[in-house]
Amino acid sequence: MKIFVPVKRVVDYNVKVRVKSDGSGMDLAGVKMSMNPFDEIAVEEAVRLKEKGVATEIIAVSCGVAQCQETLRTALAIGADRAILVETDAELQPLAVAKILKALVDKEQPGLVILGKQAIDDDCNQVGQMLAALTDMPQATFASKVEVADGKAQVTREVDGGLETISVALPAVVTTDLRLNEPRYVTLPNIMKAKKKPLENVKPADLGVDVTPRLKTLKVSEPPKRGAGVKVPDVATLVDKLRNEAKVI
Ligand code: AMP
Repeated sequence: MKIFVPVKRVVDYNVKVRVKSDGSGMDLAGVKMSMNPFDEIAVEEAVRLKEKGVATEIIAVSCGVAQCQETLRTALAIGADRAILVETDAELQPLAVAKILKALVDKEQPGLVILGKQAIDDDCNQVGQMLAALTDMPQATFASKVEVADGKAQVTREVDGGLETISVALPAVVTTDLRLNEPRYVTLPNIMKAKKKPLENVKPADLGVDVTPRLKTLKVSEPPKRGAGVKVPDVATLVDKLRNEAKVI
């Protein structure tokens, strides 16, 4: 069984991003970029399934600028077998990414697609669900445990107030939650080996996909700055402030 793992190049989670002065977006000049953390978890899960003998091949896919190759090389170093870069300088919105992935799923016929539950830059939480709809595959989102046997995936999901376990027939789409696994450290020998693994380059037009954005960003703004706190002498003053200043009670 092939496993497909879409990996997105995003601003590193340690970077504190700044809004551009004209409010048109984030200032990404010179900012460190990395693989979306949920996608690292997805690659790790695919590698574990291969180590268990469930999967035979792991294909990492990234859509975006040429530098996404670095993200794909990281996926190859974690343990993916080959990679596909769908290269474009155009702004890619979730529907466009889902359409690209559908075209590749039609071509490669994976038994499982494991995506991150969300990209930490746009926080959309949409691509997995859109891909499931476009390909008519069952979906198991926010997975904290995945077991594959007998043509089915048993997936434990984190839901409000507990855990839900569902069974989906393969081929299926799974999206990863934070507690699914802890990705392994990438070792130097594996980084060296990854350089020799195949990386195919295609364009969205080669797949017949129109990536024209459907949404327009009107404005991006910083959250309001938090004011300094004050110490209150007693409970009566606190209640008075909550009622008359903060107006929350
Ligand atoms: P989103 O719906 O944008 O929050 O993204 C959810 C997941 O879709 C990510 O964790 C990735 O697995 C995948 N994804 C989103 N954008 C891309 C992209 N440009 N290239 C590859 N995978 C992507």
